Amino acid sequence: MKCKVAIIPKLNDPFVIEECEIADLKPGEVRVKVMTCAICHSDIHSVKGEHGVFEGSATAGHEIAGIVDAIGEGVTYVKPGDRVMACIIRQGCGKCMPCMSGHSWFCENLPPNKFEQPSAYTRPNGEIPTQTGSTATGFAEYTNCPESCLCKLDDDIPFAVGSALACGFISGFGAVINRCQVRPGESFAVFGTGGVGLSAIQGARVSGADPIIAIDLVESKLELAKKVGATHTINPKECDVIEEAKKICGGFGPDHVIVAVAGSKIKVQALQTCAPWGQVCVIGHATRDVEMMNDVCFMDFLVGRRLTGSVMGAVNLRRDMPKYMDMYRNGIIDIDSMLTRYYKFEEINDAFYDAEYGGALKDVVIIGGLE
Ligand SMILES: [Zn+2]
Ligand SMILES: [Zn+2]
Repeated sequence: MKCKVAIIPKLNDPFVIEECEIADLKPGEVRVKVMTCAICHSDIHSVKGEHGVFEGSATAGHEIAGIVDAIGEGVTYVKPGDRVMACIIRQGCGKCMPCMSGHSWFCENLPPNKFEQPSAYTRPNGEIPTQTGSTATGFAEYTNCPESCLCKLDDDIPFAVGSALACGFISGFGAVINRCQVRPGESFAVFGTGGVGLSAIQGARVSGADPIIAIDLVESKLELAKKVGATHTINPKECDVIEEAKKICGGFGPDHVIVAVAGSKIKVQALQTCAPWGQVCVIGHATRDVEMMNDVCFMDFLVGRRLTGSVMGAVNLRRDMPKYMDMYRNGIIDIDSMLTRYYKFEEINDAFYDAEYGGALKDVVIIGGLE
């Protein structure tokens, strides 16, 4: 079967949309008709080869919402016609020790999660592009993906919301709920108020944190941060972040600091901002070389300061997503405010440009349709 796929012909080229052959389903795989795919900052890293350099051409996209088109042998979780999200995080087997102890990311019965692997497409020139989106290719009319990466999307949840939930939202919200376990009245700050940072703010709000401090250089993002729950904002262009955050939090700094931006300097700053007993949780990252930390003394941790991190919000996919969909439905979380711009499939290069430079939050590429 043939379908349209956005292809990066080689590293640093813009996308071209090509008619490619999609492979037959292997056992355990599902073919999804992609309706929407949002752009994640990880995609921007991926297409630049920053998750791993790729040879030749590549595909991208992992914030996927769509409809099951066909199922491979042995698939039991979904059937054709089901609405789904396809995620990087997968549902573990539930039976191995990491799964049973709540760490399904390390499931022993799933193949390792690789960002670069051969895609299911064959280009007109015969080449098989690298899939940079890990489990699937979102910027395509159809994608083949493992059953384990799917989570059902309720009928009343729009596809674009499903795309936002699939990665950006859970990364921020889940980090606060599952990893940091913020409690009512604790103080909270987040560096970076893109889609992940705004989702973290919502996690803090739902957890009853107070104050909730949003830190960003872009005023429009800080405005949105206030809309979704920040009680205070800090623009580092206008003041000393560390001093200001300490002032807001009674002199000691926040109990929890989330870092939703790349770069090691800002992580060091986060450690200096948090309370001596506080916790810094790292989400945003770039390549290893820009994430190496100097100037951190381990003695700073003797008093109880903690440094941790979170990948995909440490969620358990099919346990947590239904709760998050319900919170969306009941107005407890606000995803609509974060969905800023919509693009047609043919406008994918503009969408990527705006996602990187346009101060955008969640740019959504509409492939099959919003409904
Ligand atoms: Zn993502
Ligand atoms: Zn397992």
